[in-house]
Order: sequence, then C-alpha cells, then structure tokens
Amino acid sequence: MHITKPRTRDDIDELKWELQYDTVRVFIRNYRWHRIIQGRCMYLDEHNFCTIYDRRPKRCREHNPPDCEHYGEFYDVMISTPEELDEHLGK
Ligand code: SF4
Repeated sequence: MHITKPRTRDDIDELKWELQYDTVRVFIRNYRWHRIIQGRCMYLDEHNFCTIYDRRPKRCREHNPPDCEHYGEFYDVMISTPEELDEHLGK
C-alpha cells in the first residue's frame, strides 16, 4: 500500500508504532513509500482466488503489480523496526 513519507513528529511516531508489529514493514522504491501488512486475506479461497473480486476494496483495485513483493527486487530500502526507521531518517 502506498503511503506518504512521514514528515512530522506525529507521522513518524505513528509509523514507528505500526513497525512495532512483526506483521508490518515499510519499503521505499523509487522514492515512493509503501506499507506491507503480512498475512493472508480472509477473502482468498483455497485456490487463492478472491471471493469478493467484483466488490473488492479500492486498495485492491489500485494495487500496482510492479510494486508487488512477489516480483523479485521490489524495494530500494526495507524498514522493519522503529529503530531502522529512525536510522533511515537520520534521527
Ligand atoms: S483482491 Fe483484495 S479482497 Fe480480494 S483476496 Fe486480494 S486482498 Fe483480499
């Protein structure tokens, strides 16, 4: 999911809170920031097809395959912890 680069102290604090979860990571590709939420969507069937495809959420409709983590080297920077975010931002 595309996100905006955190700029304010509140933005950074919020993203650091999300990164406390081991199911959340952030990556940067071509200067664009993205959030990854790991896990399996509850709407996938046993064949990995979407069971609500015609009414899937906007986020799913806007998904951009070249940014997908299933396509090889998909990131320039990967951030997995609050400390790595601080380090990347030079805090
Ligand atoms: S398209 Fe969206 S709603 Fe459908 S299975 Fe994938 S993540 Fe879930």
